Amino acid sequence: MKKISLSLLSLLFAACGGTANSQGPAAEESAPPMLGLHMAKGEGPELSRKPGGGGGSNMIFHNGEIMPTTSVHAIFWGSSWAGNTSDKVSGMDSYYQGFGNSTYAAASNEYTGTNGQVSSAVAYTGHTTDGTTARGGRNSSTILSEVCKVIGTSAVHNGYYPVYVDLPRGSAGYCGYHSAGTCNGVTVQFAFFWNLDGDSGCDPVDTSGLHSQGLAAIANTSSHELSEARTDPNNGGWYDSSGQENGDKCNFQFPQPLVTFANGTQWKAQSEWSNAANAGAGGCIE
Ligand SMILES: [Zn+2]
Repeated sequence: MKKISLSLLSLLFAACGGTANSQGPAAEESAPPMLGLHMAKGEGPELSRKPGGGGGSNMIFHNGEIMPTTSVHAIFWGSSWAGNTSDKVSGMDSYYQGFGNSTYAAASNEYTGTNGQVSSAVAYTGHTTDGTTARGGRNSSTILSEVCKVIGTSAVHNGYYPVYVDLPRGSAGYCGYHSAGTCNGVTVQFAFFWNLDGDSGCDPVDTSGLHSQGLAAIANTSSHELSEARTDPNNGGWYDSSGQENGDKCNFQFPQPLVTFANGTQWKAQSEWSNAANAGAGGCIE
């Protein structure tokens, strides 16, 4: 979801049973926009689309930047990450280590912007754990503040900082989102992810046995958000006439049971929209 107005966003929250209270984005006039919301199943405009086909209309260029290269640094925020014995932290390290130069990454490479063309050069600089109490899942300003606190003066313009909290989604209609903001004067990309353990609305139903359900779910949502950030980082990239970015148009659509990354790890990752492929056999590729 892209270029969604704050008022429409508040309606979405209302429709999802959330409340546009003082913690909500409607009250945060200056909050960075929640772009590319990865809507939970049954939430949002994905309902109107048929499985397998994606949205039918191509995405349009909006005369701004894309991400020619990307430098990812993950942030795990919350008191329960310390001593956490799940496979999520090590799993997401493997995920990001293998994303760069994968066929899956290349599925977003056809798009160009004022600063060049998207490429599969996606580097991973590791993760930082912040054991303070996580908060603000409905407030993008809080998440941006967390990114700037952790990254500080290391922020780089091709930086992408996904924040994984230990908070459940509750009644929020989205599994995650990406956005942009400024840390120490540098415009950066960031993203937010709920703890999706046991959350059927955001579950890709990975039956491979390779990952825990919670890891598979945040990995799938991470595929959606990173692909959207690369192709539409600052709201001037690629999205269709409904504001749908390349992840939105193929939300929870899996042409392959698993995709194999450059380091050999395998993931149930949703497909991404390709204008070029849409001229042929349908636009959702991976
Ligand atoms: Zn999205």
